[in-house]
Amino acid sequence: MATKLPEAPRVGMVSLGCPKNLVDSERILTKLRSDGYAMSPDYQGADVVLVNTCGFLDSAKEESLEAIGEAIAENGRVIVTGCMGKEAEVIRARFPNVLAVTGAHQYEEVVGAVHDAAPMPPSPFVNLVPDAGLKLTPRHYSYLKISEGCNHRCAFCIIPSLRGDLVSRRPDAILREAEKLVEAGTKELLVISQDTSAYGVDIRKQPRMWKGQEVIPHMTDLARELGKIAPWVRLHYVYPYPHVDQVIPLMAEGLILPYLDIPFQHASPTVLRAMKRPANEAKVLERLRNWRAIAPDLTIRSTFVVGFPGETEADFQYLLDWLDEAQLDRVGAFRFEPVEGAPANDLPGAVPEAVKEERYARIMAKTAAISAAKLQARIGRTLDVIIDEVGEEGGATGRSQADAPEIDGEVFLRDAGHLKQGDIVRVAIEDADEHDLYGVPVSA
Ligand code: SF4
Repeated sequence: MATKLPEAPRVGMVSLGCPKNLVDSERILTKLRSDGYAMSPDYQGADVVLVNTCGFLDSAKEESLEAIGEAIAENGRVIVTGCMGKEAEVIRARFPNVLAVTGAHQYEEVVGAVHDAAPMPPSPFVNLVPDAGLKLTPRHYSYLKISEGCNHRCAFCIIPSLRGDLVSRRPDAILREAEKLVEAGTKELLVISQDTSAYGVDIRKQPRMWKGQEVIPHMTDLARELGKIAPWVRLHYVYPYPHVDQVIPLMAEGLILPYLDIPFQHASPTVLRAMKRPANEAKVLERLRNWRAIAPDLTIRSTFVVGFPGETEADFQYLLDWLDEAQLDRVGAFRFEPVEGAPANDLPGAVPEAVKEERYARIMAKTAAISAAKLQARIGRTLDVIIDEVGEEGGATGRSQADAPEIDGEVFLRDAGHLKQGDIVRVAIEDADEHDLYGVPVSA
């Protein structure tokens, strides 16, 4: 017996105005067709009707409003797009029941609005790829890339020559991806890019509509919206620019995790200058103090490079003293290595390998001691923990809000056999070692 595929939703289209608008209508319909939608030649057969409006002259606007009115009267489920989308409030005042209003050339929004209004029924024969895409991570956490490339030119890095300058993704596309991931079971979104704090600098003047409201392509606005979608949102690769101050209150409110991954790489002003690092300013320690005053549980993870060309013993000692002050929670360190094509390779003052080794051992000892003391201070507290794995003998492994997967520590639980991967539970912390915590789930 032949397998019957679920029937595709039907889309009706009323296209007004000039040939440019007609081409837009064709593009929208082509995309919807390739997404599996069927077309309806009349109002009655349509699950949703698109009205692509013209707003060139007052007479064209009036014609557009009449067409919207007719579609509402005949079908009732109407999405408005095109030039009159700029006047969404006029349309909504006259037709409060329109499902969505998007502007000209906003293909992604209008197609997204159709998907929301008339979702495609899932079919394993048609949807070879799940809605959330194919993932290499477990279902309960996902990396979310918000931009590609980088505007900085750090001396040891070849990313800009490989990937070019920063290109930010549209905020609505990121939010739609986040929503799909959460629908597919993701509890924790790990926001990544080369420089998350620079998100949107290239598209700053292009706000996009998301759920009926404009979202500005800026790290704070994006973080706030992501916080409404996923239980846990973790920001990676953030530089301590002044505007990062704005995301700290979101952490204090519990909208995003109180966690920042800031690749400082060094603290000595001379070395940072030679490295050509961004946000290299003297007030970073003061900034960290202010952030912790607002969000006391803020966890800061970072990485450092030792043995960069020209690094003196005084520079290195400056870094160790700075770490005493900064009290970072998690630190990774690397010995400088020349990467083919990186400008740093031509710098004078190469540090001998033995000196690099010795500095590496010293920075690791220093940061491990700070991190261990911070973990000890968590004993006796009750923390939220996300479950990564449930063992066979009643134990489970998870992570606290202070631990990103793969790079930070873990929380080992006893009496946790009843839990499932992806659960977020309250855990009484009973013990700690240099890297990890130990505890037991407590009832809500
Ligand atoms: S190290 Fe990071 S910030 Fe610097 S150039 Fe490379 S990608 Fe950009």
